[in-house]
Amino acid sequence: MQQDIERILISRERIALRVHELAEQIMADHSGSTGEITLVPILTGAIVFCADLMRQLSLRMRIGLLTVSSYPGASLRTQGSNLLSQQLGDLRGRHVLLIDDILDSGGTLKLVVPVLQSMAPASVKTCVLVRKDRAVAREVHVDYLGFEIPDEFIVGYGLDYDNYYRNLPDIVTLRKSALEPR
Ligand code: 5GP
Ligand code: MG
Repeated sequence: MQQDIERILISRERIALRVHELAEQIMADHSGSTGEITLVPILTGAIVFCADLMRQLSLRMRIGLLTVSSYPGASLRTQGSNLLSQQLGDLRGRHVLLIDDILDSGGTLKLVVPVLQSMAPASVKTCVLVRKDRAVAREVHVDYLGFEIPDEFIVGYGLDYDNYYRNLPDIVTLRKSALEPR
């Protein structure tokens, strides 16, 4: 796995610092009214980010789950976003924070935000760790953003290639030799 890494784009130390800052911002915005929040990580890519972020949030919280597939198998570009499953519970009157790993074409957020909004929540906000430097990505509203990166294919910290590399602690690019289906 280590030999497949081309370069580290965002180190685990920078990620940890930024996750802490995002958590401070989220807490400042949610400590009023009910002081409660429902986190909805988009599976599978957002699991690592969500696991780190939620432990920095001292708010009363629930978790809902959504599974979206956009890069099935060995894809390097979005194949269109599909909602595969949802386990959201009752969101009526709740403050929802949707969490995703990366904003690329924006297709995922455009698919999912209306699904959440249709469930009569008190609010829906979005938190994305990484946004690619693309015009289409910048057009999509995000409430909390971790990093902006060049338009490159990345893995690690939850992000995969063919469902591998999610456990790498840093966000990295892969060598060409690793980007061939095996
Ligand atoms: P969008 O729907 O905005 O095009 O893309 C969002 C989803 O596509 C992300 O949640 C992620 O699953 C996948 N994705 C987009 N860019 C990348 C990338 O560079 N690497 C990986 N591993 N997945 C990506
Ligand atoms: Mg995803």
